[in-house]
Formats: sequence, structure tokens, C-alpha cells
Amino acid sequence: MDTVQRLRAIPGMDIILNSDWLGSYLEKLGRMRVKRIINKKLSQTRKNILENEEAEFNYDEFRDSCMLAFASASRSSLTRVINATGVVIHTNLGRSLIAEGAIKSMNEIAGHYSNLEYDLKAGGRGQRNSHVEDLLCSLTGAEASLVVNNNAGAVLLALSALAKDSEVVVSRGELVEIGGSFRIPDIMELSGAKLIETGTTNRTHLYDYERAITERTSMLLKIHPSNFRIEGFTASPERKDLAKLAHKNNLIFMEDAGSGLLVNNEVLNLPANSNEITIKACLEAGADLVTFSGDKILGGPQIGGIAGKKILLDKIKKYPLARALRVDKVTLAAFEATLRLYAGEAYDEIPTLRMIRCPLEDLKTRAENLANILAEKLKDSEIKVIKVQDAVGGGSCPEIELEGYGVSIKHKNFGAGYIQKLLRNFEIPVLCGAREDEIIIHVRTLLPPLKREVAERSEAGGVASQDEEILIKYLEGILNNA
Ligand SMILES: *Cc1c(COP(=O)(O)O)cnc(C)c1O
Repeated sequence: MDTVQRLRAIPGMDIILNSDWLGSYLEKLGRMRVKRIINKKLSQTRKNILENEEAEFNYDEFRDSCMLAFASASRSSLTRVINATGVVIHTNLGRSLIAEGAIKSMNEIAGHYSNLEYDLKAGGRGQRNSHVEDLLCSLTGAEASLVVNNNAGAVLLALSALAKDSEVVVSRGELVEIGGSFRIPDIMELSGAKLIETGTTNRTHLYDYERAITERTSMLLKIHPSNFRIEGFTASPERKDLAKLAHKNNLIFMEDAGSGLLVNNEVLNLPANSNEITIKACLEAGADLVTFSGDKILGGPQIGGIAGKKILLDKIKKYPLARALRVDKVTLAAFEATLRLYAGEAYDEIPTLRMIRCPLEDLKTRAENLANILAEKLKDSEIKVIKVQDAVGGGSCPEIELEGYGVSIKHKNFGAGYIQKLLRNFEIPVLCGAREDEIIIHVRTLLPPLKREVAERSEAGGVASQDEEILIKYLEGILNNA
């Protein structure tokens, strides 16, 4: 057949739109979207025929490929997943989960009018930041604070408001790129401040900072190195010495703390040698301002916080960029509720903290319980409880080896990569670890059973959480039909 004949075999849009196989997709997706998908498939088909002399139009194949595209277009793109990787603050999986109480608060504020910017006592205009400022100050010891969209925004805002057209001194060892492409040199340039690098990548001394200061300097900036770590021959001056040097020269000393720790390492059940220090400790050591994320180790929604001296925060709050970076009401509701959990020391109600500080014994019990259920249900599989390496994630505590427990599953025919791929393609996708030919389910990041579930089912022996039950069902589907 010549090309023209082969092209003629392709049906027109009107005919396709009248086909029975479209079923309810016309209503579900809307005519426009269905037409768009069909158009795309039609042009792919034409292109294939033009480029390939052997290619002919195949109606069944065309229909099937349209149906697959319709099905995929009707699913929500942003979807919940099960995190069985053991990385608590997983940047690709949405960082911190929001506490149940905070979700209630978000619902309430999202669906109702609120006093977001209304002062109910005075009967007039209020400040959205006022709902969290005092709480944040009491948890960090700061004089004043401001909440914006995220930490990248907080750093940009503080630099723009306080250091535009002047010099900011940073140690070369801290000029790192942080996951999600946050680079201090780029942020600095955008703010209009001039970056002055000092010291070397592994060692920066107080005298390096001292020599870098000129009459154009306005700020010394310390940055949390996040995941980046140099071992061995390293040096950096103490915070309190940097603060002294800054203040002697009438400069601002600001710290980008990254994660935003509000509690010490004992509360987190982490070793004392962790490099993470609290916002409060940064301020006590002399930092004038500290910036941090809300959705990393703090365990709240995505926000950026700035805590510190009132005189500086007054300037920052008035700077026009603050308006462009302001936080939305639903997020603010979640953040206030999360801070209230901290104030009441209800740490286990904050999922990120609960997962990090979970005792090793509990993880072991949960892994054993899950392994027992799986051993009963799965065919042709070798199931073991193993020790695993979990991680805090989110750039916090890269030096800490977070010991955990997991369940390893080795199937007699299927490789680990294949099982992982199938698990990612379920309605609720599952992400897990792998080692050679075993997949590894890290139990730390699976949602634990609710109290109610424990009470209801403890008589029946082991209790599986909702996440675990879904996982068990999926694994049965994959491995028992091999
Ligand atoms: C994560 C991080 C940021 C970026 O914070 P976002 O809240 O993601 O904008 C900035 N600085 C440091 C040190 C970080 O660890």
C-alpha cells in the first residue's frame, strides 16, 4: 500500500468521538480533554506511518492506547504512597507528615472564614503572623519571628531586606547545594547582596572571617551544611566567637539552620554527638537571626521561619518581598497546631518525631509481627527479620546511623528490581529498599496501627496497620500468582 492509502485508513475525530468504547470517559474527562488525548494519539499514528513504510493503522491497538491514556488522565496525579524506605524526611515523598491534630485544624480553617487578618479584640485589621509569633518565640527564646513560604524564601527575604548592596561573608566550606537545588550563591545574587567567600573548603578560621570584613560588609552568614560532610582535617570557628566578631564590627550574624530543631537530641533519642543544634541554642550562642524549614525535622507543614532580634525582624516584615512570600492560611493553621503540640510536649503526636525517636525494641516487634503475617501468606518466598540502616533525611544528621529493623523478602523467581517496579505501580504505590535479590521493608516509616486498631485486633494476635495491610495484599497479588 502506498502512504496515502495507509493514511486514509486512519478514522477522523468525529468517528472516534462517536465510538462506544469511549464509555464514560467523555463525561469524566470532558470533551476537550478527550479530544486532546485522541489528537495526540492520531498525530503519533500519522507520524509512525509517514516514517515507517511497513506501518499500518491498527484499530485495536489505537483504541487500547487511547483507553490507557484516558485511564491515566482520570487518576489524580498527586497521590499518596507508602514509604517503606526508612528515610523519615524523604524530600521526594513530601518530607514531613502533618500531625493528626494539625490536619483537623487545616480542615477547620480551609472550610470556614477565620480571623486570619482580623483582630477580634480590637475589631479591626490584624496580622496573619500574630497567630504563631508568640508560640515560636517561646519555643526558641527569640524576641520576634516571622513565618514565610519556605526556608529558601526566608533566607532570600532576610538577605534582601538587610544586606542588599553590601557584602556578606560566608565560609567556603558551607557553600553547598542543598537537595531541591537551593544554592546560596544564587540566592545571594538574587537578593542583591555580594557574596564574599572566605577560608578553604575544609578549614575556615576566625581570622579568615576577620580579614574578609571591609567597610562594605553587613553580615556574617553561617549555613548548615545539610547532607554535605567533610571528615578529617576540618575547622570552623565557634558560633559564639563568630557572634562576638560580628558584633564588634557592628555586623549582623545570621545562621541558616536548615532543619529547625526545636527539641534536643535526647528527646529525639539521637546520640549526643549529632551535629544538629536547636534554634534556641543558635540564638543563645549569639546569632541575631536564625532561618529554618517547617517540614524537615520540625515535623510541620512547608514554611520558612525567621527567629531573632526584634529590630531586625521589624525591618524584614516591612520589606515588600515579605508580602510575596507570605504563608497561606491552611499552612498557618497546621503550623500553629504543630507548635502547640511542642508546647505541650506531645512529641509522639508529631509523626516525624515519633518515627525518629521510636525505640529499637518497638521497631523489632513490628518487623517480627509483619514477618510472621507475611510468612503465613506468601508462597515461594524467604522471609527474614533483619537489622537495617534507616535515616533521618532532609539534610539533618547525615552523620547519624539510625539503626532500625526491616523485613527482607526473597522470591524464588522474581528479582528485587522487578518486585519494586510492580509495587510502585499499584493504586497506592509502595516504595521500599532492596539488597541484591531481596526487597526490604523498613518498618520505621510505615504508619503504625492506630490505637483503636490495636484494641480491636490484639486478641487475634499480631496487629497490622493500614499501611501494612495494603502492603500484604499487594505482595500476595504479586508473589502468589507467579
Ligand atoms: C533544606 C534547606 C534549605 C531549603 O529549605 P526549604 O524549606 O526547602 O526552602 C535551605 N538551607 C538549608 C541549610 C537547608 O537544609
